[in-house]
Amino acid sequence: MVRLVLVLGDQLSRDIAALKAADKARDVVVMAEVMGEGISVPHHPQKIALILTAMRKFAAALAADGWRVAYSRLDDPDNSQTLSGEVLRRATETGVSSVLATRPGEWRVIADLEALPLAVTILPDDRFLCPEAEFAAWAEGRKSLRMEFFYREMRRKTGLLMDGDKPAGGQWNFDHDNRKPAKADLLRPRPLRFAPDAVTEEVLALVEARFAHFGKARPFHWATDRAGALAALDDFVTNRLPRFGDEQDAMLTGEPFLSHAVISPYLNIGLLGPMEVCRTVEAAWQAGRVPINAAEGFIRQIIGWREFVRGIWALQGPEYAARNVLGHYRALPGLYWGKPTGMSCMAAAIGQTRDLAYAHHIQRLMVTGNFALLAGVDPAQVHEWYLSVYIDAFEWVEAPNTVGMSQFADGGVVGSKPYVSSGAYIDRMSDHCGGCQYRVKDKVGERACPFNLLYWDFLMRHRARFEGNPRMAQMYRTWDKMDQGHRARVLHEASRFLRRLDAGEAV
Ligand code: FAD
Ligand code: SF4
Repeated sequence: MVRLVLVLGDQLSRDIAALKAADKARDVVVMAEVMGEGISVPHHPQKIALILTAMRKFAAALAADGWRVAYSRLDDPDNSQTLSGEVLRRATETGVSSVLATRPGEWRVIADLEALPLAVTILPDDRFLCPEAEFAAWAEGRKSLRMEFFYREMRRKTGLLMDGDKPAGGQWNFDHDNRKPAKADLLRPRPLRFAPDAVTEEVLALVEARFAHFGKARPFHWATDRAGALAALDDFVTNRLPRFGDEQDAMLTGEPFLSHAVISPYLNIGLLGPMEVCRTVEAAWQAGRVPINAAEGFIRQIIGWREFVRGIWALQGPEYAARNVLGHYRALPGLYWGKPTGMSCMAAAIGQTRDLAYAHHIQRLMVTGNFALLAGVDPAQVHEWYLSVYIDAFEWVEAPNTVGMSQFADGGVVGSKPYVSSGAYIDRMSDHCGGCQYRVKDKVGERACPFNLLYWDFLMRHRARFEGNPRMAQMYRTWDKMDQGHRARVLHEASRFLRRLDAGEAV
């Protein structure tokens, strides 16, 4: 029986389940560039360009390998501009009514495929190291799901950084050696840049003509095929991995990448596999080229956090992204879409997001995420923003990170406490405060750092929920010891700041 084999834009792996199960001699691979996906949220132009370019190259490689590929280009006049429409068009053209697909990473797309009036078989996405059923079994009966325990299971299962049944180096986690601020360094190695080739240029022109979304399409320096992604991985392991652990939480003006890998888009669209990445890092440690705190810290992000959030996404289901246990309903402030702000840390994170479609974890969590949570922004709007603006954003990974880890809108499924901080944390981990319109040391007054005001306002708004949390009780005790007049002033100034934010004033 001939089947249509659907390969989505984030499934560009030769060993994707649907291709593994397909018959090259008979089946037809279906790939489609459609406006419906490009505008499902206002995706960053570099994200759209990366996906479309990588799709075109992947399709060409499959065709060169002997596959029959039915490829819909965005500017094809017959393109129905929806995924379902394109699958149906190919079904009509070929007279085939069976579809083989790999489980998409977005509930909306899963529902679209399931609603097709065709015989659709959806196979599990086995590129993840922890199958959905295995995660569900691990989660079953646990009072709370904590990444650290899941991570240890994954270390045992994969054998990564293991010394028999013991963790290599005698510890599961070396984070106490990490989390240092970064120093300016003129010789700091920057990620490899890939000059756009003819295929990329053609796609960039198409994207610029069709999508007027937040973010700059150019300069575009991403790798767009597997060879490029492997080169990017090698460059990271050789040049930046040694300092990965030390600088994991640091922020430095003008240094958007520091010692981060900058490989998440390649992993998420399928150009790299999680296990090959981890094995490469483990080998660098075994060869004595990187310290254990760097190798362990990195591998934890992949087999720990990445697999953990994917498990949460699958376990929690389609309603998860709409959760809002803290009852936050403020509109996302215009500064997230590039309106000027005097807050240096926010301007740096959002400016580089606009220019590069990239910000590293601490910028996402402790700057833009922290501010949205403290200000009480509607988590659905925060979720849509993160899903739109980052080149690596796909619902399965973005939603648990945003709705759960960053906004605590899931009530503690992902994290045991909200990630909130005053300006002191940002000051400690970055050099942003020195050049800011606000003063991080000021707790009240005209130039008080907004994070300082909003931090206490948030804690007071949610006192009933968080006061009993052992990891937060100390903060409430600190507040209670403060002078009553000072406390009243903090809350008064916080609400004045929020009114200005709501009025659309530049803050
Ligand atoms: P590095 O810091 O070098 O980390 C190495 C790799 O570990 C990453 O490439 C990534 O694959 C993995 N990783 C690290 N942290 C996480 C995590 N928390 N969850 C999943 N994988 C992780 N990551 C995405 O891939 N897509 C997203 O849409 C996304 N949205 C996020 C939203 C918020 C609010 C927050 C706080 C984090 C989000 N992350 C997301 C996680 C993390 O910020 C990015 O994976 C990371 O910044 C990617 O850059 P890098 O490759 O340089 O990562
Ligand atoms: Fe950010 Fe406050 Fe520091 Fe300004 S003073 S950079 S707003 S933390």
